[in-house]
Amino acid sequence: MNRHRILTGDRATGSLHLGHYTGSLANRVKLQYEYDTLVLIADVQALTTHFDRPAGVAAAVRALALDYLAAGIDPEVATIVVQSLVPAIAELTVFFSMLVTVNALRHNPTIKTEAAERGYSELTYGFLGYPVSQAADIAFCRAELVPVGEDQLPHVELARKVIRRFNELYRGRDGQPVLVEPRALLGPVPRLVGLDGRAKMSKSLGNSIDLADPPEVIREKVARAVTDPARVRATDPGHPEVCVVFTYRRAFRPAAELNETEQACRAGRVGCVECKRSLAEALVELLAPARERRARYQAKPGFITDVMVAGTARARRLGEETMAAVREAMSLDHFPRPAFEQEFVLRRQMPSLLG
Ligand code: ATP
Ligand code: MG
Repeated sequence: MNRHRILTGDRATGSLHLGHYTGSLANRVKLQYEYDTLVLIADVQALTTHFDRPAGVAAAVRALALDYLAAGIDPEVATIVVQSLVPAIAELTVFFSMLVTVNALRHNPTIKTEAAERGYSELTYGFLGYPVSQAADIAFCRAELVPVGEDQLPHVELARKVIRRFNELYRGRDGQPVLVEPRALLGPVPRLVGLDGRAKMSKSLGNSIDLADPPEVIREKVARAVTDPARVRATDPGHPEVCVVFTYRRAFRPAAELNETEQACRAGRVGCVECKRSLAEALVELLAPARERRARYQAKPGFITDVMVAGTARARRLGEETMAAVREAMSLDHFPRPAFEQEFVLRRQMPSLLG
C-alpha cells in the first residue's frame, strides 16, 4: 500500500459540530479512499485545557470515535487512533521541543486568541507548547497532508518549520531526510461562525450545532441564532452580511437559492423566523445520513472499541518505525534495541537467574 498519507484529528473535548464538518471533516471523508488517512483522537492535547476534567476527556474519546463513523469515516479504509496510546508522539514531542523557541509559541496567533477566549492570564507549559505536540502528531506517521480549519494554519506552519529544522540537523543512515514536511489542506468553509455570532463555532464555546443533535435540537438552536439586530419586524429590510443564519446558508445551501434568499431578505420579503425555519429543515436533512449511521454503530459498542484498538495498534507500529530512524539520526541508538528488549523480557521472566 503506497498511498500518500493524511493525518487529521480533533481534541477529545466534546462532540463534533458543523464547523468541523466544513473545516476538515468533509475533506477527510472525501479523501479517505484516495489517501492513507489517520484520524487522531487527541486526548492528551485535550488535557492542555481539560487537565482538571480527565473523566470528561475519556468519555469524549468514545463520543469522537462514534462521531467519525457517523460522519462517514469508513473503518475499512481509515485508521482511527487514540493519541495517548502512541508513545512515539510523546517521545517526538520532547525531541521537537528543543527545536522551537518560546517566542515563536508566544507569538502564535491561534494560541493568543484561544488563551484570551479562555481567560487565561498565565499559560501552562503544555498549553503554550501544544503546537509542538501537534507537529509530533503529524511527523510520527510521516503524513504529507493535513486537512484542517483556518485556526490551525499557524500550527501546520510551525510543524513544517520544526520538521525542516530536524531534517537539516539530523540525517538518516543513507544521508536522506528522516521526516516528511506536511502541507495544510483547508476545507470548503475554513472557519464557520458560532450560533452566538462569535468568530468560531467551537466545542468549548458552547455555540455549536453538533452532528449528533436530533432534529428538534437543530431547530431550537437555529431559532436562537444571532441575526441582523437592526431588523425588528419581518418586513424591515435585512442585512445578510451581518447575519449568522446567512453564513450558514452560504456554507450549506446551493448558490442559486442563496441569491434568491439574499434578495428576499434585503427587500423585507422574508422574515427571520421563516428563513430560520427553512434552514433548520435543510440542516436536519443534511445530517440525516449521519443520524442513520450513528444509530447503526451505537447498537454495536464493541465494534467501536475494535476499530480504535486496531487503528491505534497500527499507529504504534508506524510510530516505532519512525522512531527507530529518528533515534538513529539523533545518535540515540546507544545499543541495539532488540538486545535491550530481550534482556528486559528475560529479567522479567527469570528474576532469580539474572539477579
Ligand atoms: P476546542 O474548543 O476544544 O478547541 P474546537 O471546536 O476548536 O474544540 P478542535 O478539536 O480544536 O475543535 O479542532 C479540530 C479541527 O476542526 C481543526 O482542524 C479545526 O481547524 C477544525 N475546526 C474547529 N472549529 C472549526 C470551525 N468553526 N470552522 C472550521 N473549522 C473548524
Ligand atoms: Mg480548538
